[in-house]
Amino acid sequence: MIGVAGSREGVDVLPDGEYLPPLKLRCSEEIMRRTCAKMGIRVIPTRKAVLTQPYDDRPACHYCGHCMKGCDVGAIFSVPNSMIPKARKTGNFTLLPNRLARELLVDTEGKVRAVSVADTATRQEEEIRARVFAVCCATIESARLLLNSRSPRYPDGLANSNDVVGRYLHGHNTADIFAYLEDLVGTRPVNNDGATDHSYIPRFNIDGKKRDYAGGYHYQLQDYSFMTPYHAHYLKGFGKKFKEQVRILQPGFMAMDCYAKVLAQPENRVAVDPKRVDAYGIPIPVIHFRFCDNDHALYY
Ligand SMILES: Cc1cc2nc3c(=O)[nH]c(=O)nc-3n(C[C@H](O)[C@H](O)[C@H](O)COP(=O)(O)OP(=O)(O)OC[C@H]3O[C@@H](n4cnc5c(N)ncnc54)[C@H](O)[C@@H]3O)c2cc1C
Ligand code: SF4
Repeated sequence: MIGVAGSREGVDVLPDGEYLPPLKLRCSEEIMRRTCAKMGIRVIPTRKAVLTQPYDDRPACHYCGHCMKGCDVGAIFSVPNSMIPKARKTGNFTLLPNRLARELLVDTEGKVRAVSVADTATRQEEEIRARVFAVCCATIESARLLLNSRSPRYPDGLANSNDVVGRYLHGHNTADIFAYLEDLVGTRPVNNDGATDHSYIPRFNIDGKKRDYAGGYHYQLQDYSFMTPYHAHYLKGFGKKFKEQVRILQPGFMAMDCYAKVLAQPENRVAVDPKRVDAYGIPIPVIHFRFCDNDHALYY
């Protein structure tokens, strides 16, 4: 029960789902929507795990703009706020804090029988047994854990007989564009804090035209909250005049964050270095990564 705000838009590259009511576009985003529509580019309400109405015993967003710092009311989905309280209520849940998984241990049949953990507070080591284990330490640490789980049966790490664990590491190329919307510059300041970005431009370069790159990119609009004038440090001057300039421009501020897909390549990978260990003696992850020509072409 995550609770995702959004709208059904019928965009091929962005399949629809079941949503809570969408976030309302701010004036600046509405201007972008109308302008982009003239170019055949869609601007749609963003889809994200922020509650626009009470849901699953959590309150609706109060648009304070602090999403990136942690939500004070739990309107943005997170495991500590949303899932752990429910798990506790079942009576079948035990949280073991301060445990760092070192390696997964297998039995003679090659099945995982236990996880070896270090207690980061006491430095004690222990083995925890279970019927089922889920590896969910995020991208790099999950690969690290599997690669460090070596045994005579799995000398290259667990689940790695094809040498794929840790490979195809990829993410996004990003670029920020800041602009000012003439219609809003100098207008009366209003509370625009919102829940960071309220609108989204899905990938639109799917038109059959030949380009120098494969893949595409999307934009998130206004994902810098308004309470801080991020553009100020790009402006020249100081003192009263400088502050006035920041205030005049602030209502017209438009931030567009572009995210382009980086190609997944086997050479880009997480490995482990048995000769270099962390404070608990666990081999550290080593990242091998290089952007390829297509990544550069897409970016530029
Ligand atoms: C600044 C930032 C902004 C982001 N914004 C967005 C966004 O707007 N939208 C979006 O969709 N995604 C966003 N993401 C990405 C998103 O947060 C991640 O993709 C997602 O949280 C990954 O979930 P996960 O469960 O795989 O890993 P995580 O949420 O990272 O959880 C992994 C957990 O495993 C623990 N762990 C790691 N190693 C071990 C170990 N050896 N033993 C025990 N525990 C371990 C970690 O402490 C952590 O608690 C953002 C990420 C960042 C960093
Ligand atoms: S704006 Fe973000 S931090 Fe503030 S209530 Fe809404 S979801 Fe939570």
